[in-house]
Amino acid sequence: MSREMPEQLEQTKRTRIKRVPKRGSYQRSTLYQIIDEALVCHVGFVISGEPHIIPTAIARMGDHVIIHGSRVSRMIKHLQSGERACITVTHLDGMVLARSAMHHSMNYRSVVIYGVGETVEGEQKVEALDHLTEHLVPGRTSDNLRPYKRKELEATTVLKFLLDEASAKIRDEPPVDDAEDYQQEIWAGVVPLVLTPGVPQPDPKRVCDQPLPDYLMTR
Ligand SMILES: Cc1cc2nc3c(=O)[nH]c(=O)nc-3n(C[C@H](O)[C@H](O)[C@H](O)COP(=O)(O)OP(=O)(O)OC[C@H]3O[C@@H](n4cnc5c(N)ncnc54)[C@H](O)[C@@H]3O)c2cc1C
Repeated sequence: MSREMPEQLEQTKRTRIKRVPKRGSYQRSTLYQIIDEALVCHVGFVISGEPHIIPTAIARMGDHVIIHGSRVSRMIKHLQSGERACITVTHLDGMVLARSAMHHSMNYRSVVIYGVGETVEGEQKVEALDHLTEHLVPGRTSDNLRPYKRKELEATTVLKFLLDEASAKIRDEPPVDDAEDYQQEIWAGVVPLVLTPGVPQPDPKRVCDQPLPDYLMTR
């Protein structure tokens, strides 16, 4: 799926960040880093003038992001027909506590992607599904899973979106208070937030006890 793409994405009318543009980036490497840490995205689209935003899993494959879903899902059917989408990825990295409620903020890394989906077929589809699984749970590969059934593959659609119109925005700083408020005796600073996996819980319907795979032990 990879092809030669410029490192710096062109800013378009759609992707130009207006507020605090110094936090914006159009560097492909920055965008890719943010996307690669994401497990979910939000896909925005409009049907008959009505906006919809649907959360779903995401992975990057080369210069595309991929999403998948049931062949009959409204989102998939709509996007497969060539309608435009706006896909966002958000990492909430910290609560920024200022001395005034008005200056409270959040530290974050986010990406906004615009584009049209392309259906991934054949071998590439299987490759994309495998890639998505391994992105979500590193180590969980087709080698240690039951193979796909043909009807499962038929019932599933994979869409890819080329990363050629997108922006990133990053806030990574302490609170910004009014100058006179730094004298206030109020705690201020950043409370970091991190998404971490919990202890794996074996399926209660298991018929035999399998040891925890190595790739889950390090998580
Ligand atoms: C977790 C989180 C919390 C936030 N909370 C607030 C809040 O409470 N209030 C608030 O005003 N803003 C908040 N923001 C920032 C918000 O996402 C916008 O950046 C902001 O509304 C300013 O948009 P704008 O008018 O510059 O751009 P818009 O005109 O809205 O957008 C123009 C283009 O800029 C790019 N862009 C804008 N924002 C982002 C972004 N975050 N990431 C990547 N590309 C972007 C997109 O390509 C977009 O199409 C938050 C962001 C995050 C990630």
